[in-house]
Amino acid sequence: MTLSSTIDKARSLPDLLRNRDGELTQELVLRPGEFGLGKVPARLQPDATTTVVCGFCSTGCGLNVHLKNGQAINLTPTTSYPVNLGMACPKGWEAITPLHAPDRATTPLLRNAKGELEPVDWDTAMQVFTVRFKAIQDQFGKDSVAWIGTGQICTEEMAFLGALGKFGMGMIHGDGNTRQCMATAVAAYKQSFGFDAPPFTYADFEQSDVIVLVGSNLCIAHPIMWQRVLRNRNHPEIIVVDPRKTETAMAATQHYAIAPKSDLKLLYGLAHILIERGWIKRDYINAHTSGFDDFAAFVKGFTPETVAPECGLSVEQLLHFAETIHRGQRVSFWWTMGVNQGHEATRTAQAIINLALMTGNIGRPGTGANSITGQCNAMGSRLFSNTTNLLGGHDFLNSAHRTKVASLLGINAAVIPDQNSLAYDQIVQGIDDGKIKGLWMIATNASHSWIHQSKFAQTLKKLDFLVVQDMYHTTETAREADLVLPAAAWGEKEGTFINSNDGSVS
Ligand code: SF4
Repeated sequence: MTLSSTIDKARSLPDLLRNRDGELTQELVLRPGEFGLGKVPARLQPDATTTVVCGFCSTGCGLNVHLKNGQAINLTPTTSYPVNLGMACPKGWEAITPLHAPDRATTPLLRNAKGELEPVDWDTAMQVFTVRFKAIQDQFGKDSVAWIGTGQICTEEMAFLGALGKFGMGMIHGDGNTRQCMATAVAAYKQSFGFDAPPFTYADFEQSDVIVLVGSNLCIAHPIMWQRVLRNRNHPEIIVVDPRKTETAMAATQHYAIAPKSDLKLLYGLAHILIERGWIKRDYINAHTSGFDDFAAFVKGFTPETVAPECGLSVEQLLHFAETIHRGQRVSFWWTMGVNQGHEATRTAQAIINLALMTGNIGRPGTGANSITGQCNAMGSRLFSNTTNLLGGHDFLNSAHRTKVASLLGINAAVIPDQNSLAYDQIVQGIDDGKIKGLWMIATNASHSWIHQSKFAQTLKKLDFLVVQDMYHTTETAREADLVLPAAAWGEKEGTFINSNDGSVS
């Protein structure tokens, strides 16, 4: 073989390995995406973009949605968004997929005389909605109609729902499914701080030198928060308290696989050690807390020797845990559903808060007693949908608060209820007891998620009128509804669009 034929052969080698006009070529061709998107697949070239916040978990990652003819065709994480810094987890990358689900509700459905759901136009649906609910209220009282909402819709919609339900339709009772997961954190924060507001930013994950995760599998449940932990350059001690050997536990520097239901004892035991050894911040405690001496007396009995065996740990492990907290300069405590839905949950959350307070690990970067929620807008539901409190953290029972909110909204204060709502479970009980006759269920599927499903199915049958508003007409609750209202999903609502032709924003 001559040198030139060898060179010719070598030149044709890439063609053997990479076919430039094969079946997948068009799929793989990249072109400049414009809008600062870098290169995108040519077949998915957008003509506009908009931004959204991912709605799958509570992290709140920013996404750029690529649009063509007004339709979402692709997405990329927003590089400048301070939450995710250009990252997204597999759930976020799939955020467009549910929009195209085959069982999307696309038209209102009304149950007919034969008991079947049949399509109707929006005018008919709205007429039935208002006439039926009003008739029930006229016959049984305003509080005979209630709503059950969600943590899945955006804050503006939460606020509108709460205002429409209570100030417009005169309802007294409305609650969100967020009550089920977050009541613990809300009560703990309100009792400890007087207000429901988790005191952290995601930058704290990067600034701590000790990160304590209680009942939280951050790697899986909140992947981008875990990425923020991985960006921490302080080589933090990562302590996981979880009976299970979760993915997060496996990545931790210390894993305490405590016995189920022993977390409160563990936390009291840690408080005992910190106090006994003087590993507390007396100045901070004196300046910012009350009742510390009573608390110290209370935890006196939780000695390492009694607590360790009950938690399934050794005394040495307990001491090492406490000492790690003591040695930390910026210790952050985080909890989520393992605490919120656990045994003696509110006290457990407060015991975490107390550890942060007594060691002065609060109010500084990289510290805090921090509750991580599950749903994307649990906080919006808690603060703005007129469920657990009057709009914006105000109190239904406080006439000055009612007057303030009424004057801000330009409405008559008399339309604001002067009593609290029934909680989710009490609304369900109210239906069972025949006191609540009409229910409007929004973006939640209680027939699937509520406890005692067979009993709940019987409870729903007691309603005179059930309206379900959802993206899908196939949910277990929608199938039981008298009226189904199709809901637009996140990618189908009004937003800000950047036109690729002239750069105009609409
Ligand atoms: S971490 Fe949560 S908010 Fe972020 S992309 Fe994943 S599912 Fe969406």
